[in-house]
Amino acid sequence: MNKYLQQLVELSKFDKEIDDFTPRIENVQKTYRVTKEECDAISANIEQLDNEVSDIKVQKSQTNAHIAEFAAKIKDVAKKSGLAKSEKEVKALNLEEEIAKEQLEAANEEIARLEKIIDSKNASKEELVAKKSELEAKLTQIEAEISSELEAIEKERAEVYAQKTKLVGEMNQKILTFYEKIRKWAHNSAVVPVRKQACYGCFMQINDKTFAAVVRAEDIVTCPHCGRILYKENI
Ligand SMILES: [Zn+2]
Repeated sequence: MNKYLQQLVELSKFDKEIDDFTPRIENVQKTYRVTKEECDAISANIEQLDNEVSDIKVQKSQTNAHIAEFAAKIKDVAKKSGLAKSEKEVKALNLEEEIAKEQLEAANEEIARLEKIIDSKNASKEELVAKKSELEAKLTQIEAEISSELEAIEKERAEVYAQKTKLVGEMNQKILTFYEKIRKWAHNSAVVPVRKQACYGCFMQINDKTFAAVVRAEDIVTCPHCGRILYKENI
């Protein structure tokens, strides 16, 4: 095989290997990312619950203030009742007392209702906090695992890079430019094998004359249909 063609076949192999590292790295990082996102979502939920509970606590303290008012009112009415002179006055005070007692009862019921909501929200929060600490432990574990995995991948990648750099240093500049131009659109299929007399980039049949040139492998031959660089394997 022509030396330049051989170099191109090798170079395209290195380039493909280098590109293949990206999905491998992403795959390793994915587990971490998914768990992290789950953890962040739980943190947001916890914060939301905290905000809701503090809102309800404000409502509760407002209701408590009303309770104090109603209680004072009842006390006041009782005091006035003792001093009432006419029956009409007593009746009016009784009515006032009744209303205040009803309001007091309603406010107490409201407090009970709010406390129930707070309890239920706190219970939900506790569950989330437990789940979050579980996920955090998992994250620490994943982090340790992926860091060694990534290190191994990085080492492999550095080796391929070194091989590529060495090869590129030995290559003809014009051939390199030609290859890079094709690679711009063909990406990792800039240099493709011919199988069953078809280009393995565009899968079109190539004519006998081109095929013969590919088999001879004396020159760099491109596919007449797509322009990719062609080579015959195992020759
Ligand atoms: Zn082609």
